[in-house]
Amino acid sequence: MRALFVVLAVQVLLGAAFAVLAATGNIPFTSDEPEERAARADRFDSAAAFSLLREQVELGPRPAGSRASRALGERLRGLLPDGRFEAVPGGLRNVVGEIPGRDPRRRVVVGAHYDTKDIPGFVGANDGASGTAVAVQLARTLKPRQLGPSVVFVLFDGEESPGDAPDSEFLRRGLRGSKAIAPRLRDAEAMVLLDFVGDRELSTPREANSDEELWSRLRAAAARVGAGEAFPPAFTGAISDDHLPFIEAGVPSIDLVDFTYPCFHKPCDDLSAVSESSVDKTGETVLELLTTL
Ligand SMILES: [Zn+2]
Repeated sequence: MRALFVVLAVQVLLGAAFAVLAATGNIPFTSDEPEERAARADRFDSAAAFSLLREQVELGPRPAGSRASRALGERLRGLLPDGRFEAVPGGLRNVVGEIPGRDPRRRVVVGAHYDTKDIPGFVGANDGASGTAVAVQLARTLKPRQLGPSVVFVLFDGEESPGDAPDSEFLRRGLRGSKAIAPRLRDAEAMVLLDFVGDRELSTPREANSDEELWSRLRAAAARVGAGEAFPPAFTGAISDDHLPFIEAGVPSIDLVDFTYPCFHKPCDDLSAVSESSVDKTGETVLELLTTL
């Protein structure tokens, strides 16, 4: 009797543990490496996006104004539809492109920064290259008049503060490209910022400054393309990023930034820290979101 009770108790405990694992999506051995699975939808060419991520990393460190960053700017201008430079104070340049929508009065902004933090040897695979790669691949995928609003793509220069600036001066000395262009885009309906979007264990909560309504539409889009687990129903503290000048200009904005990233501003932010499947989940999700705006 007692033995039977123990067996029953163990079964109940195992059942409860399984229920918890199932609820949290952590059942071991039931799927092959879930973090490596790409999104279910397949409209976004993640191989092309990842190769663009790799190409940036292979340029080496790309701090704002450096030779490598200038060369990358030229390359990105050629890749964006209607690509052009817009001056940023200090001799920097945003790269801007646009895909016209059906309604000429409406527009939304997709942004990412293409400079890297000025730390010797820092190549920014996630912090810089991932968002830029996804933004450019979205621009190569969308067709004119496919969407209601026009989509303005902005690849920001000078998001990072200069190498000699302490972190406490980031708000004043960083975000240079977004501060320069946000006032001109104040009539945009929405701004989607892509920052840390390629790390291997992608789990992007809602960042506290990000617009709640737009974020819930992003999560619904993620669920529809089979990438829901990358955008859990969680939120994190406010992060100072290129969406702030747009919020200040009155544009509802969201920042896709998985800030639990262990290689933030560290030499390990290299190709080994990012994955094509994460780039795919972000790309498919944002593509789906854009089609519903
Ligand atoms: Zn950074």
